[in-house]
Amino acid sequence: MQPHAFNENSVRDEPVSWASDTAPDNVALAALLRVGPTRRCEFADGHVIEPDARVVRIVLGGGLGRFAEPDHLCVAWAGPGRTQFDFASKEDHDGPVLQAIGATTVLLVAKQTLHEGLGELATQRWLCRAGEIARKAAEEEAACIGFHAAENRTAKWLLRLQPEPGKPVSVTQERLAQILGIQRTSVNTAMQNLRHRGLLRCRRGKVGILDLPGLRRAACACDRVDIGAADRADALYA
Ligand SMILES: [Zn+2]
Repeated sequence: MQPHAFNENSVRDEPVSWASDTAPDNVALAALLRVGPTRRCEFADGHVIEPDARVVRIVLGGGLGRFAEPDHLCVAWAGPGRTQFDFASKEDHDGPVLQAIGATTVLLVAKQTLHEGLGELATQRWLCRAGEIARKAAEEEAACIGFHAAENRTAKWLLRLQPEPGKPVSVTQERLAQILGIQRTSVNTAMQNLRHRGLLRCRRGKVGILDLPGLRRAACACDRVDIGAADRADALYA
């Protein structure tokens, strides 16, 4: 699979199968693509995305992060499979800035298209669910920022930024410092420790992951639970 190849199975917060419970995700995505025009966008790392309440963004690769200040501290992150949208457009938006983290691929769908193609109820259910998942993810991120050590958080972010297993992570220590909201020297210390444990190899803005299970163990447990999946299972078997 190409790093950001279109992957139908990567859409997890989808609308249609949610409404019809156990349908597989790719059926949901196929239905979504049938409802009307969608646009695939590629963003470079650090690209700022203007708020737009008219669209829904489905992350296919990379991730979208909300930064407390431009280029400082990612307070919420949506990785592959997540749905992201704004409640207000540019003029009325004063929340954290949305930015691509790593090379990012997003499928853009107009809310209007969803309303027409999926119907009001299915669209509402989908967006409510996506909003709830985003809220939980932001809460977890806040707890992570507040309580987890720099080394564990660095490991967590390296895992998030790896395009796929076996591929190196393209990220500088400066960028990691921005994302984590810590000093570059702290990132350097964390990376050194991870390197001494034989987990990483660093070379010119590329971080090779030598021991993926080891790096997973070094990371805090924040990303080990799939919030959406847990949610879905609860709802299905309630
Ligand atoms: Zn954490």
